[in-house]
Amino acid sequence: MNKKTLYNIFHTYSKVNEPNIDDVKKQLLSIVLFVNILGLPMILLGTIEAIQLKLSYTASSFFILYLPILCAFIFRKKLPYKIIVFMLLFSGFLIATINIIIYGFSGAGLPIFFVVSVLATIFYGIKAGVITIFTATIPMMIVAILMTNNMLSPGVDLMKISTLPISWLTAIIVMLFLAGIMIFGFGIIQNNLTNSLNYLKKQKQDLIKTNQELQIAKQKAEESDKLKTEFINNMSHEIRTPMNGILGFSNLLNKPDLSDEKRKTYINIVQNSGNQLMRIIDDILEISKLGTKQVNTIENEICLNNLFLKLFSIFDIKAKENKIQLFLKKGLSDKSSLIFTDETKLNKILSNLLENALKFTKEGFIEFGYSLVKTNNDKPQHIEIYVKDTGIGIKPENQETIFDRFSQEEKELSKNVGGLGLGLAIAKENTELLGGKIYVKSEKGKGAIFFVTIPYKPVHLEKKEIDKNNNILIKKQKKFAILIAEDEEINFLYIEILLKEVIKLPCDILHAKNGKQAVEFCKSNKIDLVFMDLKMPVMNGFEASIIIKKTCPNLPIIAQTAYTTDKDKEKALQSGCNDFISKPINEEYLNKII
Ligand code: ADP
Repeated sequence: MNKKTLYNIFHTYSKVNEPNIDDVKKQLLSIVLFVNILGLPMILLGTIEAIQLKLSYTASSFFILYLPILCAFIFRKKLPYKIIVFMLLFSGFLIATINIIIYGFSGAGLPIFFVVSVLATIFYGIKAGVITIFTATIPMMIVAILMTNNMLSPGVDLMKISTLPISWLTAIIVMLFLAGIMIFGFGIIQNNLTNSLNYLKKQKQDLIKTNQELQIAKQKAEESDKLKTEFINNMSHEIRTPMNGILGFSNLLNKPDLSDEKRKTYINIVQNSGNQLMRIIDDILEISKLGTKQVNTIENEICLNNLFLKLFSIFDIKAKENKIQLFLKKGLSDKSSLIFTDETKLNKILSNLLENALKFTKEGFIEFGYSLVKTNNDKPQHIEIYVKDTGIGIKPENQETIFDRFSQEEKELSKNVGGLGLGLAIAKENTELLGGKIYVKSEKGKGAIFFVTIPYKPVHLEKKEIDKNNNILIKKQKKFAILIAEDEEINFLYIEILLKEVIKLPCDILHAKNGKQAVEFCKSNKIDLVFMDLKMPVMNGFEASIIIKKTCPNLPIIAQTAYTTDKDKEKALQSGCNDFISKPINEEYLNKII
C-alpha cells in the first residue's frame, strides 16, 4: 500500500470539505485492492501445495479465481470503480465457495464469505450485504447437506493440510484482512463523522455570519429608507419656501400702487428665492453626477491665497450680516501657495464648509485658513485646510455619519436653517477626488473644526513671472479665452462647469457680472468667445453686444437667456449676437455651437 493512499484516507477529510461518501468508498477500495495483493503469495503457495498434493483441479481453480482480483488491481485506474468492486466480490465469493468444497467448514471459506458480505454492504448498501450472505448460505447448505450424507468429503486430508504453511498463512492473512477492514473502515467512518461535524459547524458559523450580514444590510436599508423619506420631506420644505417667496412676491408685484422702492425689494426677494432654488437643484445635480463616478478633476495652477481671499470677500459680507467675525489665516506666501489643484472643486468644498459654519454659529467667530504639513521624507507634504467655528458643535457619534448623503444631526434645527444634508457628502466626494481627506473635530456645544487635506503639488516658481508688485502672474498653456457675462453666480458656474468639465474645452474663463464689465473685459483682453446674458444689471446684454461688436466685429457672441421668445432672439441677433442659446443650457447644443 503506498503512503499516499494512507495519507489521503486520514488527511484528505481532515480539511473541512463537504463530506462525499463516494470518495470515501473509492479510498476504501484502494485499500482493499492493495490488501488483496498480499493474497498473491498465499495463492501461489496454495497452488504449489495443491500441485504437491496432486490436486491439479484445485490448483488451477485457485489461480483462475484469483485472476479477476489481479486484473482489478492492474486496471484499477482505468475501469469504473463499481466494475472493479464487482470483480473483487465475485471472485471472492467463488474462492470462498471452492474453499468450502475443498476444505470444508474448517478452511478459510467462512471468513472469506464474511469479508465479501461486509464489502458488499459497504460498497452497494445493506440490501446487497444481506443478499450476499443469503446467497453464501446456499453453497454452504449444499456442502453441509452433502457432507452429512457422506456424499462429499473435504478433497484434502485436513490433518495433513493443517501442518502445511498454507493453512496458518491463510488464517493469519484472512485475520489481517478482517482486522484491516475493521480498522480502516472504522477509521474512515470516524474521520468522516468528524468531518461532517466540522462541516456542519462551519456551515453553522457561515449561517451565523450571513445572518449577521443580513441584519446589518437590513439595518442599513432601513436607515437609508428613513434618510430618503426625511430627504423628501426636507426637499419639499426646502423647495416650498423659495417657491412661496417667488409666487407670493411676484403676485404682489402686480399691484398698481406699488412704490419703486417696494418693487425693488420684492424683485430682490423673488431673485434671491430663485437663486436659493437653483442652489438646491445644483446640489441635487452634483450629488447625482458624483454618484455616477464619472466626475474627473481638472487640475490647473491656482494661487491658494487668491482663492482664500476670494472666499473671504464673499463670506465676510454674510458673516457681518449675522454679526459674526470672520478671520482668515494664510499659511504660505503668495509664491509658495501656487499649487496644482482643481479650483472649482476646492472652491465648492470650502464654500460648503463656510456656509455650514455660518448656518450653525449664532455667536462668536469663524476662522478659516490652511497650513503646509511637513512630514517625513517618505511621505509627501500636504496642505491642511481648516474651517473653525464657535457654533453648536457635533456629537462624537455623529462626526462620521454627517458626511453621508442626506444626513443631518439636528433635524429640527436644520429645518429652520435650511439644507438637504447633501453639502458635506458633496464636499467629501470632491475632497476624495482631489486625493485628500475630510474630517471634523468637535464637542457638542463647543464649536467645530472641519479639516480638509489635499496633496501639496507646488508649481515651480522659477518658470513663473512675477510682476513689479511681486504678484504672481500665472502663465497658463495656450487656451481659448472665454468671457461669460452673467450676473447670476450659479448660472456662471454652470456654464463654466459645462465648458471645463463636461465639454472639456481647454479654456480660461473670465466672468463679467454686468454688461459694462463685459465691454471693459473685451477692450482690455484678447477674448475668443463671449457668452452674453441678456438680462443684467447696470448694462443689459443687448447694449453690451452692440458696443462690443463695434470694437471687435469678429468676436463671436452667443446670447443666453431664460426668456426665449422669437422677439428676444431677433433683438439679440440685431444687437450683433451670432447665435442664441436658451437656459437651461443644453450640453449637446452648447457643444454644437462651440
Ligand atoms: P445641510 O445642507 O443640511 O447643512 P450638510 O451635509 O452640509 O447638510 O451637513 C450635514 C449636517 O452636519 C448638518 O445638518 C449639521 O447637523 C451638521 N453640521 C455641518 N456643519 C456643521 C457645523 N459647522 N457645526 C455644527 N454642525 C454641523
